[in-house]
Amino acid sequence: APGTALLQVQGLTSAYGPVRALDGVTLDAEAGRITAVLGANGAGKTTLLRTISGLVRPQAGKVLLDGEDITRSAVEAMVSKGMAHVPEGRGVIAELTVDENLRVGSLFRGKVGKDEYDRVYDIFPRIAERRNNAAHTLSGGERQMLVIGRALLAQPRILLLDEPSLGLAPRIVAQIFGLLRQLVDREGLSVLLVEQNARSALSVADVGIVLNLGKVVVTDQARTLMADEGLRHAYLGF
Ligand code: ATP
Repeated sequence: APGTALLQVQGLTSAYGPVRALDGVTLDAEAGRITAVLGANGAGKTTLLRTISGLVRPQAGKVLLDGEDITRSAVEAMVSKGMAHVPEGRGVIAELTVDENLRVGSLFRGKVGKDEYDRVYDIFPRIAERRNNAAHTLSGGERQMLVIGRALLAQPRILLLDEPSLGLAPRIVAQIFGLLRQLVDREGLSVLLVEQNARSALSVADVGIVLNLGKVVVTDQARTLMADEGLRHAYLGF
């Protein structure tokens, strides 16, 4: 139900050798909400998503999905439990078509029905138009839609999105965030969105969390953070 903590992160600490990238991070992502994690380059945002999804193993702390401790689960198990991670960089196979990229991306979740592909194409009509085009011909925005669509084929309950706005024109960012908002509002999807583009992220998110040097500085309603000029200037760059 909206408002319950679907994903809970408790005291998460991760390091790369001597570099501590996350230092005791505690946060919740509620069901049916968009939670935005903001902060400057190097704040630890990518490491947070990589630790939640099991790509980086934490030194301390826990990750719970629906109350179940998944901290040491295998990555495939996390996917089957309802978590999908869209890493930064929009990785697609350039020579394959849009349609082939979706099919390849769904291989590791068993049988995906035609309805599930159709649903992705309904959500992203732009991608449907380009389904037979090679992925290298897509614009950045189209690629971002493709990787989000590919993640949705796993029918996640929570989507972890790393910097989807990077390098995109503001109009395209607004379009993609608007589509995400619809998925959340209509289908109850939950989103943990990591962004350096704090202004755009706060305009679509319900809750905002500011990270700095691997620590949570503040957690509050997105609109409250948006109204806090001192915080914006200190941590959010606008
Ligand atoms: P960005 O927007 O650049 O991705 P970020 O907020 O996502 O920034 P992280 O990428 O999580 O931050 O990086 C957090 C810290 O960990 C930084 O000090 C970074 O230099 C360091 N770091 C990240 N990845 C590695 C790695 N593979 N090896 C060593 N240090 C790393």
